[in-house]
Amino acid sequence: MKFKWYSAYAIIFVFLYSSSSLYPQNKIDDKTSLNYLRNNLKVLASDEYEGRETATRGEKLASLFISSELGKYDVKPFGDNGTYFQNFDLLSSGYSEDAKIALLDKSNSLIGEFLLGDDFIRSGRGFADISFASQTTGIVFAGYGMTQKENNHDDYANIDVNGKTVLILSGEPYRDKNNPAAQVPFLASSTDSKIKLAKENGAIGVLIIVDERLKSFWSRIKEFGTQPSIGFVPKEPQEAIKNIPVFTVGEKFVEQILAGEKYSYEKLNEMLKAKESPAAFQLNKKLKFDIRPFLNTVQARNVVGLIEGTDPKLKDEFVVLSAHYDHIGTRRGIVNNGADDDGSGTVAVLEAARRLSSENNNKRSIIFLFNTGEEKGLLGSGYATDNWTFMENVVANINLDMVGRESADSLHCIGSGKLSTEFANLIQEANSGGVDFVLNYKYDDPKDPNRFYYRSDHYNFARKGIPIVFFFDDMTVDYHKSTDDVEKINFEKILKVVKLTSDITLGVANLDHKLIVDKKNEDVLPRQRRD
Ligand SMILES: [Zn+2]
Repeated sequence: MKFKWYSAYAIIFVFLYSSSSLYPQNKIDDKTSLNYLRNNLKVLASDEYEGRETATRGEKLASLFISSELGKYDVKPFGDNGTYFQNFDLLSSGYSEDAKIALLDKSNSLIGEFLLGDDFIRSGRGFADISFASQTTGIVFAGYGMTQKENNHDDYANIDVNGKTVLILSGEPYRDKNNPAAQVPFLASSTDSKIKLAKENGAIGVLIIVDERLKSFWSRIKEFGTQPSIGFVPKEPQEAIKNIPVFTVGEKFVEQILAGEKYSYEKLNEMLKAKESPAAFQLNKKLKFDIRPFLNTVQARNVVGLIEGTDPKLKDEFVVLSAHYDHIGTRRGIVNNGADDDGSGTVAVLEAARRLSSENNNKRSIIFLFNTGEEKGLLGSGYATDNWTFMENVVANINLDMVGRESADSLHCIGSGKLSTEFANLIQEANSGGVDFVLNYKYDDPKDPNRFYYRSDHYNFARKGIPIVFFFDDMTVDYHKSTDDVEKINFEKILKVVKLTSDITLGVANLDHKLIVDKKNEDVLPRQRRD
């Protein structure tokens, strides 16, 4: 194996900060716990771990660190084949880093070249069609790219887009600009449905003109718009997931595309301001794509440990304590360390594992699930909950995602009473009889636009009818930024979270009955439309 100095450095780091000679393994006192929390987070949120992005070297290093800690705490491996790892494949898809699109005039002379990340970003979901070769296409401006016969709106009525690239606006047109009462947009038309429609009309590429909202943070969004999309390997044949290239194009590019055409970019903006719906037209220019799509299989893994229950019967039932150990990785050389998101939850679950393991007075078994892929769409927890064969024996999930910031006196408590009143009560009692946080339930309001109940790994348990609780500090200014660092973490608060979650875990693990589920999942409403 090729020697890598940085791997060696990471191993030394692990040794320095977690060597058993420095801290006795089984001492349960606050000082020892604070040392573990601090030293474990210093490792996981260090630059050596490269921001722990799913299916990267940073993820692998972090998974090794977590598993080695679990081993030291006598927590049993509960992943594949007697290991701590639950491995699964994902598909990673995108366009080569130096992807570019050339703009040509009528006689195929080069007007300019535009670069992925600077001038256009990836848009739309799903996987790229890797059979898409570099090719030159005509361009058609297709208005909003919508067909709504019932509203007398069809952008494709008088144009031929077959084999061409369509240039479209995001959002929806107004019904009637002269009637203020009717100045409401059409029903939301998603980007997905616009892409589908363009494809059905024979288009081979879609360019979406940047809208006002994206324009305001173009410089930031472009970092993410160049990243591959990662998802589960679809069950349907590859043919069915072939997507035409879809990009959102920035102002500089759009200006050049529309220069000298029926509407200039300036004219188009005037029309939009006047709430007019610009008609479709064929452009004189052409696009030459040189984007090289790729589709790779990559490996990701959850880390899973177990403390077996002491009761011969109840040990076949499980309480799951979880946090996600992945984060958003390194962007343009800057490491996003994710100390709070979710390094804080990860070290809290580790410390709860250490403490609960040394006590081992749980009748039911306790699973410690360190999820990967949360930032890519709750992938690790989705994989675990879809593939564990014992899901009907999982009695509750306690999930920690961002628990080391904001006031040390309060904590957001989300989802605890959605399925089980008994669980909600047990949590309140555990809290008031223990660390006594001011538990804030405001995010349980169904009208709250943040919809946090659906936004971290616990939801994959809730959707299976398993009672969950999600503990969360709040959105901070450092959320998903490179400034989410260890220096800003309040370890006293994490320690309180460790105590609370340990108490709740034991409370559920030692009940003489399975938690009573007395409510049903509410119907999941589609995401609110963002204007
Ligand atoms: Zn998170």
